[in-house]
Amino acid sequence: MNPGIVTASYIGATILFILALGGLSNQESARRGNLYGIIGMTLALLATISSVTGNVAILVGGLVVGGSIGLILAKRVQMTEMPELVAILHSLVGMAAVLVGFANFLDPATHFKGVELTIHDIETYLGILIGAVTFSGSIIAFGKLSGKITGNPMLLPGRHWFNLGLLLATIYVCKMFVDQSAAGHGGGLTPLLIMTGIALLFGIHMVMAIGGADMPVVVSMLNSYSGWAASATGFMLNNDLLIVTGALVGSSGAILSYIMCRAMNRKFLSVIAGGFGTTSGAPTAEEGEQGEVVALEPHEVALLLKDSKEVMIIPGYGMAVAQAQHIVYEITKKLREKKVNVRFAIHPVAGRMPGHMNVLLAEARVPYDIVFEMDEINEDFPDVDVSIVIGANDIVNPSAQTDPYSPIAGMPVLECWKSQTTIVLKRSMATGYAGVQNPLFFKENTRMLFGDAGKSLDAVYKEL
Ligand code: NDP
Repeated sequence: MNPGIVTASYIGATILFILALGGLSNQESARRGNLYGIIGMTLALLATISSVTGNVAILVGGLVVGGSIGLILAKRVQMTEMPELVAILHSLVGMAAVLVGFANFLDPATHFKGVELTIHDIETYLGILIGAVTFSGSIIAFGKLSGKITGNPMLLPGRHWFNLGLLLATIYVCKMFVDQSAAGHGGGLTPLLIMTGIALLFGIHMVMAIGGADMPVVVSMLNSYSGWAASATGFMLNNDLLIVTGALVGSSGAILSYIMCRAMNRKFLSVIAGGFGTTSGAPTAEEGEQGEVVALEPHEVALLLKDSKEVMIIPGYGMAVAQAQHIVYEITKKLREKKVNVRFAIHPVAGRMPGHMNVLLAEARVPYDIVFEMDEINEDFPDVDVSIVIGANDIVNPSAQTDPYSPIAGMPVLECWKSQTTIVLKRSMATGYAGVQNPLFFKENTRMLFGDAGKSLDAVYKEL
């Protein structure tokens, strides 16, 4: 294809990607944003394929195989497994950056000299470095999110020194690589392999050291890394579209990580250095002083709801597991018919991925104007008659405010205990993702409705 048309298509795709990000920032425009993204990616793929001169059959073959795997995965994945899928997909971006980096380095057709060679070598080095960290970090994140690896932080003694050592080693090896590559005779492969090993180790260590409640930041941070890895690959391959797209993913992921950190009241650097925000098993003040738990039956919950004026629904990960969003909305409609003011309070890290609850509620067609973010609604709890906590735990744990030794200490939480009555729907007294006991369940004005949230709410709906 004419290079001018390819460049024009790349610019068109870039604009569409920016529009996609803009659209995705708001629920009302999210569908449109998705559509822009799909069109942009189709345009980018078509332009790239048509600009390739040789090996088109291999390229198309790869597209068909990769596309089919992606399609099957997307069709099969349950909503609750989405975060794991996202994590493992990030690992593929990292792996691609590593493989492309090595292929580019070994390609006898690339002839750079002098400063150009040094710049190209550093691009290659950075692309492989970020790619390898993203790859191994994402695999560990996948393991942690899917429960295959324990969610507890692995805190090695002297871990910060270990990280610092790895960082210094990569800088030293980088110099070795640049020197050996400049000397010619195909030199530089050994330092490149050594650095890849160090980067893989760093990725594993970094994510292993991060505790349960800090995982959301890790997921968005790996998202950001995958963007920077793609961007570095773009520099290496001299592909403007890859540079821009990678930078868009990298910077939006970094902004999301920042927002998540603010929501968790954590410092970004502390989270990525691993384990700063977590305590090493110190006894928590709340342990051992729990009171009675009062359980209700569905008909009693229905009565409480019918007699309320203000109801606040707090969805959490358990709502996703129970797929209870549809019945939640049916109950909402019924209560609204009875002139009860029903609102939803969304914690920024509820569920297992950013925006998890918003996606579920949108799927059930809950109107956006009754869905509120934590900051908008936390002060309203004293005026609420009944708060219903549906499969949420960490995000409504008062010990985040009261127990300085808690692993979630300092994390802002939804203060539902300030409402007149709080009803918690869950199956048992098990802890949430962060593994901390929740004093909310033992408060005087808390009532438990035990069982699968979907089945419990079905029963409440019938009673209503
Ligand atoms: P939690 O994981 O704290 O709690 C979920 C609760 O749901 C559990 O206590 C469980 O109790 C209950 N539950 C599970 N299945 C069902 C079911 N079928 N019916 C009823 N209840 C059920 O979730 P939260 O949403 O409160 O908090 C999110 C946590 O996940 C935070 O710690 C956050 O840091 C972390 N996280 C968030 C990410 C994000 O991006 N949003 C990413 C990674 C981690 P029981 O077993 O007794 O039913």
